[in-house]
Amino acid sequence: MAMTASPTTLQSASRRSVNIALLGATGSIGKSTLEVIALHSDYRVFALTANQNVELMLAQCLRFSPRFAVMVDEGAAERLAHMLRLRHSATEVLAGPDALVTVASHPDVDTVMAAIVGAAGLPSALAAVEHSKKVLLANKEALVMAGDLFMGALAASNAVLLPIDSEHNAVFQCLPPGARDIGGDLRQQGVRRIVLTASGGPFREWPAEALHAVTPEQACKHPNWSMGRKISVDSASMMNKGLEVIEACFLFGVGPQFVDVLIHPQSIVHSMVEYADGSVLAQMGSPDMRIPIAHSLAWPERILSGAPYLDLTKQGNLQFFEPDLARFPCLRLGMEAARTGGTAPTILNAANEVAVESFLNGQSRFTDIPAIIAGTLEQMTCRKADSVDMIRQVDEQARALARRLIGTQ
Ligand code: NAD
Ligand code: MG
Repeated sequence: MAMTASPTTLQSASRRSVNIALLGATGSIGKSTLEVIALHSDYRVFALTANQNVELMLAQCLRFSPRFAVMVDEGAAERLAHMLRLRHSATEVLAGPDALVTVASHPDVDTVMAAIVGAAGLPSALAAVEHSKKVLLANKEALVMAGDLFMGALAASNAVLLPIDSEHNAVFQCLPPGARDIGGDLRQQGVRRIVLTASGGPFREWPAEALHAVTPEQACKHPNWSMGRKISVDSASMMNKGLEVIEACFLFGVGPQFVDVLIHPQSIVHSMVEYADGSVLAQMGSPDMRIPIAHSLAWPERILSGAPYLDLTKQGNLQFFEPDLARFPCLRLGMEAARTGGTAPTILNAANEVAVESFLNGQSRFTDIPAIIAGTLEQMTCRKADSVDMIRQVDEQARALARRLIGTQ
């Protein structure tokens, strides 16, 4: 029922080797996770999963010898199996989306890293929670689209959920241990508000009229972080911060009025928690995802991450500004969806995924993204989500509507 297990339970568990299922192994988070794992002999890669990238998956299998390798794409699975056979590998290849759930819920798995991008990651992340795994959640879209159900499943299980998103990982590190339990009232713990920091992305200083001509290459060039293309576009539009406000509300059981956003271009303070007495606790570090990954893998212990240590004397000024909701309407839409609740975040997420894909394919402009999302939200009624099937239906309806809106532009 608790979000966090008692430290003693995990300390004793961490003395034997920990079996990890790494979902989304070929992505940016997946690769960083393997870099951290490679530094420590007591973590064992039990399963790796990817969508289509056979070459990288082959290299990862040969390096880490997992028991299972999942390729969602059937053709890619066949090619991988053939290449592994040629190399006399003992790794078993599974195919299709159901295999993601199979490995996420496998009885031999202790820890699941949920690092698939987008709604495709929901079934496997949810299965990991339902099977009481230690779940390291990078896939924020799963929580945004089905937060109530996800947190309900967590409360009904013995799973431990640790946020990988750097801001939420920072908040987690700044909260008192008692306040991290599901249903715990943060105010009773003296917490006044959560402050999520945002780099502001590559267009932080661009005038509004220049944003319509933005190219996918410009949007994917983040000033501080190296990430997958979808989250890079989300960071450029600031929808990433909108999704993160929703993510924080679900993870920490608070309303959106409890969550503030501050632009912090240097990405050194990863987020903060303000207490009733005026104390503000901040978590700082180099902008390197290996830090939250190592923190969550080892929690409640600490291990080496391989990330560079922070030298504040070389850092220069740390700045903080209010976000500009007029130039970045996606952040406003995310905040509004958090306030509306129900299926509003599900619709927002689905429309955003379609809009971002359309922008990356050259079919829509950067400034169409918020228009597509707002148009989709306007045409759908937000209801309370009471089942995964309902979430799936709402997600599909929103995608179809968003595609129709793109077609009529
Ligand atoms: P990425 O695009 O680099 O990698 C995505 C991974 O998901 C790949 O392994 C890919 O094979 C897999 N995948 C894609 N579509 C799939 C499908 N339909 N079915 C199964 N697998 C599929 O993405 P990323 O940057 O590593 O981000 C992963 C998740 O982590 C996202 O939800 C993102 O928001 C979150 N996140 C990333 C960062 C970061 O620094 N990259 C930071 C915070 C949160
Ligand atoms: Mg983040």
